[in-house]
Amino acid sequence: MAEEIAVRVADGYFPVETLGPGRRLALWFQGCALACPGCMSRHTWDPAGGRGATVGELLRLWEAALERGAEGLTVSGGEPLAQPLALAALLRGAGRLRERAGGTADLLVYTGHEPGEVPGEVWRALAGADAVVTGRFRVAEPTDLVWRGSANQRLVPRTPLGTRRYGPHLARTYPPGPRVSLRADGTGTGTGTGTETGTGTGTGTRVYGVPARGELRRLERGLAARGLRLTDPSWRP
Ligand code: SF4
Repeated sequence: MAEEIAVRVADGYFPVETLGPGRRLALWFQGCALACPGCMSRHTWDPAGGRGATVGELLRLWEAALERGAEGLTVSGGEPLAQPLALAALLRGAGRLRERAGGTADLLVYTGHEPGEVPGEVWRALAGADAVVTGRFRVAEPTDLVWRGSANQRLVPRTPLGTRRYGPHLARTYPPGPRVSLRADGTGTGTGTGTETGTGTGTGTRVYGVPARGELRRLERGLAARGLRLTDPSWRP
């Protein structure tokens, strides 16, 4: 059964508004061997980290998010293609639930890989995605293009829905202001996966989005000025 396929995840949250258009369920897969210098999510690198889940469990989060008006699902990481069976099953199931809910919510996947860099059967795990963002994060190549972390990364619509949803954004740049949102455990109202593997402090502060160059340092300074110190930020080696 596809729903019983095991998957390791770092986090899951709804609503996230910084990783694709609209209010989205974001799921972060655990495990990434690409080790991009400057990665903001080093806590997702260890394939044994995060927590174990099943595809069915993630699909139930998606179903609940759709009932609450989710406009899309973003799968990030970590490296989703490091768990291709789970990713393919998740996208297939999410597509079915999306159709049942009216068919307008899109499925976006972030991968650090480029086409041709992984075996075809691994890349085919993206078959159910309406759009993908591909390529390593390169800290020396900043970009203002929305939802991309560095200038080499490409946002590629793969379906008619993906073209409708992402076509208007391919060349759009961020407006001035923050590109990430912050959530402290216990204050969110969304559907979490319950993992304690966060992106910030021991109290489980999470940073969601694609930061501009220097934005995380500014965020740390701003929090420190308000008496909040990040004790173990996931972007520190
Ligand atoms: S930026 Fe993405 S692809 Fe690169 S190391 Fe971090 S999680 Fe992996």
